[in-house]
Amino acid sequence: MKISTLLYNTLYAVTFCLGAINITHAKPLQDYVPVLDQVKNNAFQIDQKKGYLVKKVKPHVYVITDGIWQSAFITTGKGVILLDAPQSFGQHITQAVAETTDEPIKMLVYTHSHVDHIGGSQHLKNIPGLKIIAHQAVADFLKEKNDPRRLLPTQTYSGDHVINMGSETIHLDHHGNYHSTESDTFVYLPQRRFLMVIDSLAPGYVPFRDFDLTHNFHEYLKMFDAILDYDFDVFVGGHLTQIGTAKDVRTTQAYVQDVYQTVKRMHSQANQFEIMSAAAKKIGWDNKFALFNVFLEHIVEESAREIEARWIDKLAGVDVWAKSHARTALIYVRWDD
Ligand SMILES: [Zn+2]
Repeated sequence: MKISTLLYNTLYAVTFCLGAINITHAKPLQDYVPVLDQVKNNAFQIDQKKGYLVKKVKPHVYVITDGIWQSAFITTGKGVILLDAPQSFGQHITQAVAETTDEPIKMLVYTHSHVDHIGGSQHLKNIPGLKIIAHQAVADFLKEKNDPRRLLPTQTYSGDHVINMGSETIHLDHHGNYHSTESDTFVYLPQRRFLMVIDSLAPGYVPFRDFDLTHNFHEYLKMFDAILDYDFDVFVGGHLTQIGTAKDVRTTQAYVQDVYQTVKRMHSQANQFEIMSAAAKKIGWDNKFALFNVFLEHIVEESAREIEARWIDKLAGVDVWAKSHARTALIYVRWDD
């Protein structure tokens, strides 16, 4: 026992040290621009000791956040409806609701299948009679995964779905899978002008890596018009330090369109043979992957340089993710567009 503990500790120490030595950065950390003042000023102030904040955003509608993930809940007069249960603060959700209302939690709605947004459901399994609602495609995937962190839905639907409970009406709408492979849900409360579209965009910031990890950039591009067709004045995107409005959606749409159009122009103008020939002079023509990568990365680098110059003072994180966004757009432009 002692020997194995010693061995574990030694291995841990060695791994930790090697890990510390081997960490690599895309660029020196100090070279990133500071987060924009406007973003810092709009940030939710989270009590780190408590670990979460409940913010009333509309009558009956509350956002819960730990400063990185966001979910919401709705009081209806007949019970509480939870919208997602993020893994990062799942253990606080029942407490957060109890601090806000005497109504019992009756229902949990899943927006999509990803564990970071619904893996906190494991902490809700003892709520008596809890209904868990999800799109059939999400339910099928979760059944396959058999993941104890993500409770299985008790009720499924196909197409769109409307929930009526007490005073509230909640629309679960679908506009193509802009993010996950199974199904992505728009949650809309028309009488509250509240719209939640998880993992779409983060007000104040550029989208996360690969345009919010989209599996389908074609659908992602169309998502913005789908959002802007709704009548809303509170928008929840599921991540980071603030919520937003339609203006934030329009700003991010302009950024995404700029990346797409810039990459498209760079790709059409670049002389693939010339760029690959220059590289082949150094390494010959045998390594076709390496030569093709030189061409693709040339477009990524040139596009990101332009994008950063135009957006660095408008949205936070441009210098972190512009190359990633250019790579996602390039795959679309070259193979699907
Ligand atoms: Zn997701």
